[in-house]
Amino acid sequence: MKLPQVWAKRLMDITPNVVIVLSAFALSMNMINSVSSLQGLAFAVTFAGFIFAAILVRPIWLKYVLATVAYVAFFNVFPYLSFDKLVSVIYLSMIILAFLLPSPLPTFLAAAYILYFTPSYSPEVPMEMISTIMIGVGINMILYSLLAFYLRNLKKENGVNMELNTKLHLALAKLEHIAYYDTLTKLPNRELLRGRMAEALSEEAPMAVLFLDLDHFKNVNDMLGHNAGDQMLQAVASLLRDVVGHSHFISRYAGDEFVLLMRYQQQEEIKALAEKLIDAFQIPFQIEQRQIYTTLSIGISLYPEDAREADALIQYADKAMYSVKIGDKNEFRFFSAIKSEELLRQVKLENDLRSAVNKKEFVIVYQPLVEMSTGRIQGLEALLRWTHPEMGPIPPSVFIPLAEQTGVIVELGEWVLKEACRQVRDWQRTGNPDLTLAVNISIRQFRTPKFASKVLSILEETNFEPALLELEVTESMMQNLNESITILGELRHQGVKISIDDFGTGYSSLSVLGHLPVDFLKIDRSFTQELTTVNSATSIVKLIIDIGHSMNLQVICEGIEKQEELKILQQFGCEIGQGYYFHRPSPAEEIELLLSSRTPVGVSNIPTKIRN
Ligand code: C2E
Ligand code: MG
Ligand code: MG
Repeated sequence: MKLPQVWAKRLMDITPNVVIVLSAFALSMNMINSVSSLQGLAFAVTFAGFIFAAILVRPIWLKYVLATVAYVAFFNVFPYLSFDKLVSVIYLSMIILAFLLPSPLPTFLAAAYILYFTPSYSPEVPMEMISTIMIGVGINMILYSLLAFYLRNLKKENGVNMELNTKLHLALAKLEHIAYYDTLTKLPNRELLRGRMAEALSEEAPMAVLFLDLDHFKNVNDMLGHNAGDQMLQAVASLLRDVVGHSHFISRYAGDEFVLLMRYQQQEEIKALAEKLIDAFQIPFQIEQRQIYTTLSIGISLYPEDAREADALIQYADKAMYSVKIGDKNEFRFFSAIKSEELLRQVKLENDLRSAVNKKEFVIVYQPLVEMSTGRIQGLEALLRWTHPEMGPIPPSVFIPLAEQTGVIVELGEWVLKEACRQVRDWQRTGNPDLTLAVNISIRQFRTPKFASKVLSILEETNFEPALLELEVTESMMQNLNESITILGELRHQGVKISIDDFGTGYSSLSVLGHLPVDFLKIDRSFTQELTTVNSATSIVKLIIDIGHSMNLQVICEGIEKQEELKILQQFGCEIGQGYYFHRPSPAEEIELLLSSRTPVGVSNIPTKIRN
C-alpha cells in the first residue's frame, strides 16, 4: 500500500472514534448544563459509562441489563430535567440502543417515558417552546443519526474483522494440526515429538523414551490390504491414547512405530507403564469383521543416564526395541541392558573371529552369475558364511566390517580366495572349463603390500586360469587412485578381471572411472529393487548401463528378484544378472548339482521362466 492510501485508511478508521468522543463530550456538556454541574457530571459519567459498556460487552443479555439500568437510573435520579434535554437524550438513546440491540425494547422504553413525562410538562409548555423543541429534536436527530451511521459502520467493520479473525484462527489451527499431527491416527507426529523432547530436555528432569513397535504388522497389510492396515493403526492409536491418558506424551513416529515420553522418578513406574501397554494388546482388534491380535515390542532409553540428546535417546530406545524384536517380541527392554549385551557380544565376536578360520567355522557359498540373454550360468560369486558355535549364523554385514576393523579380513580374504579357486577349479575340471569365479576383496585386503603378487601366487598354487577370476572391489579404492591403478594394472596384466561391486552407492567420479583398468560394473541391488517402483532408479540403472557400455565395460546387475526387473534389464542391454530370481547363494554340494545340468559352451539354455 502506498503512503497516501495508508493515511486515508487511518483517517477512515479514526473518524468514527473522533465522532463518538466529540458527541459524548457534547452530550455531557448538554447534560451538565441542564442540571447543577456536579449532578450533571455524575449523570454524564454514569449514563455514558453504561451506554459505552453496553456497546463493549459481548453477551446480548448484559447489553439489555446495562442499557435498562442506564435508563432507569437516568429518569429516576433526574426527573426534573428540562423537557427538550430529555427528548434529546431519549432520541439519542433510541438511536444508539436500536443500533445496539436487535429488538424494539429501546423504542418501547423511550415511548413509555415520553408518555409518562409529557402530561406533567405539557400544561406549562407554550407553543414557542414546543417549536424550539421540535427544531432541537430535528437537529439532534440528524446529529445522532450521523453518529449511529458511524457506529453501525464501525460495528460492521468490527464484525467483518472478527469473522476474518475467526477464519484466520481456524485456518492457523488447522495448519498447525497438519504440521504437528499425523493425519491418519490424529496423534502428534515426529515434529511435535522433537519439540516436546527439546522442551523436556531443557528442564533437565529424568525422562524415559519408550519406542513402541507393533509385532507382525506387515502381515495385516500384506494379507488384508492397506485399508485394513490403516484401520488397525487408528485402532492401535486410540488404544494407546486410552492407556496413556493425558499424563504422558505419545506420538506416531513412523509406520507402525510410536514414541512415548514419560517423566518418572522410579524405574518401577516405567516398567509398570510398559507392562500396562503390553497387557492392553491382549484383547483383539476388530478390523473388517475380523478379530486381529497383535503385540507390542518396546525399547526404553533414559535421560540422562543413556544419553542427553533427543536423537540419541530415540536411537537407543529403537535399538532396545529391535533387540526385543529379534528375540521373542511382545516384551520391553531397557537400552542399558542391551548396551552391555551388545558390547559383550561385540568383544566376543571379535575374539572368536580370530580363531574361527582355524576352527573351520567359515564356509563359502556360491551364487550363480547368469547370462541375461540365455539364462546360462556363466560363473559363480563366492560369498562367505560364518556359523558361530553358540550364536548361530552371523550375517556378513556384521562380521565383514568387524573383520575389516580388526584386520582379520586379510587372512580371511586370502583363505576365501584360495578355497574358492580350489573348489571352482575342481568344477572346471569336471565339465565346466569356462566357469568363472568372482571373489569379493575388501579395501583393507586390497591395500596390503604385495596384494597382487599374493593373488597371482594363489592362482598358480591352485592352477586357476587368471582370465576366469573376477575380483570384486568397491568404489572406495578410488580414494588412492594411483596406488589402485598400479595394483589393478598388475593383476590385469596377468589376465585377471576386475569388477566394481555395489556400483552407484559410493562416490565414483566418472572421469576417474575412465582411467581405471576394470572390466565390469556391478550395479548395486538397491537400484534393482526399486527398478519397477521408482522412476529415478530406472533412469539411473539405464544410465549406468549406457556409461558402462560406452567405456567398453560389461554390466552385471545384482539382486534380481522379479521377472519384471529382468525384462527391464534385458531391454537396457545388461549382460549379466545375479539374484534370487535365478539362484540363491548355495553350498558347494547344491551348486554341483546345478552345474551338472549346465549346458556346454555356446548352447542356449533359457529357463522357461526367463523366456516368458
Ligand atoms: P555383495 O558382494 O554385493 O554380494 C551380494 C549380496 O547380495 C550377497 O549378500 C547376496 O546373498 C545378496 N543377494 C544376491 N541376490 C540377491 C537378491 O536377489 N535379493 C537380495 N535381497 N539379496 C541378494 P551376502 O552374502 O549377505 O553378502 C553381503 C556382502 O558381504 C557382500 O555383498 C560382500 O560385500 C560381503 N562379503 C560376502 N562375502 C565376502 C568375502 O568373502 N569377502 C569380502 N571382503 N566381503 C564379502
Ligand atoms: Mg560382491
Ligand atoms: Mg554387491
